[in-house]
Amino acid sequence: MHILVTGGAGYIGSHVVKQLIEKTSHRISIIDNLSTGHQSTIDTLNSIYQNERYDEEGITFYHEDLKNFEAIETIFTTASFDGVIHFAASIVVPESVENPLKYYMNNTVNTTHLVSLCTTHNIKHFIFSSTAAVYGEPPEPQVKETTPTIPINPYGRSKLMSEQVLQDASQAKEDFSHVILRYFNVAGADTLNRIGQSFPNATHLIKVAAQTVIGTRESMMIFGEDYNTPDGTCIRDYIHVDDLASAHVKALEYLEQGSDSNIFNVGYGHGFSVKEVIGTMKTISHVDFDVRAAPRRAGDPAVLISDNSKIKNILHWSAQYDDLSGICATALAWEKTL
Ligand code: UDP
Repeated sequence: MHILVTGGAGYIGSHVVKQLIEKTSHRISIIDNLSTGHQSTIDTLNSIYQNERYDEEGITFYHEDLKNFEAIETIFTTASFDGVIHFAASIVVPESVENPLKYYMNNTVNTTHLVSLCTTHNIKHFIFSSTAAVYGEPPEPQVKETTPTIPINPYGRSKLMSEQVLQDASQAKEDFSHVILRYFNVAGADTLNRIGQSFPNATHLIKVAAQTVIGTRESMMIFGEDYNTPDGTCIRDYIHVDDLASAHVKALEYLEQGSDSNIFNVGYGHGFSVKEVIGTMKTISHVDFDVRAAPRRAGDPAVLISDNSKIKNILHWSAQYDDLSGICATALAWEKTL
């Protein structure tokens, strides 16, 4: 098959491309605007491709923004894709509160256009990067795919709307099937340290802690110590990026087999508090970096943990890197390369 990966130069997209190269024989094209991704990541992926497949062809890279509808349409008219894995999106919760329209344009509008191109060009399979943020402040700490989706920030709403667009499109077109993957907190990097999270202004906890270890930041903050949790800080389900990536390969196999459209949580099913994560980063790095208390951040639920039984049972997905120390160590090793 020929698979188009949008956002393939970015953090999660690049780990999925790496696994598509290593675990499948699919032809791969990438569209990326390089806003948070890098040309060097494309170059690294191409060298992995050439080593793995003994093939000079490599990945086809389109440096393009999904908002340029005509340019994207031209790509769809000239290339012939069998499936699309769609990552390209904005992902920072507090930014979405300050600048919601960026999120509705970049996430919902661009996804709607992409889905519409997929249906007109008879593309069969679509895998969508969604998020645990669609659950909002869930009524139970461990969320199932059937837990009501009541997002509490524009980021979560922009993703939930995209899910609905995709569901309606698949409903209306018999041979257009999709998998929605709702990611929990993704962290860590390639265990061979070839690719990782490169965006310097990243806001995610483990990345920020790694930056504080190496001195890119002088100190870091804990946003809220008065939550209703054992140590007062928020609890999240941190998943290694390569375990998240393997869920996409499984989802593609599932769609190739002709299975029905479906939604899966992707997480480990257990969580750690902000203080536990910071403590783990201090232990593995042997650096007692400066941590300060700060007010709660807008849009943060207290606890968000996956129930991952559905993806285990239906996609036969299993975790290989379920270890917070290992997640922190790979994130830190990558940070040191930047
Ligand atoms: N967090 C923090 N300090 C930071 C970054 C994040 O205390 O510098 C907290 C944040 O408030 C949340 C948790 O860490 O409770 C996870 O936040 P992150 O941004 O990593 O992911 P999110 O859950 O928002 O997708």
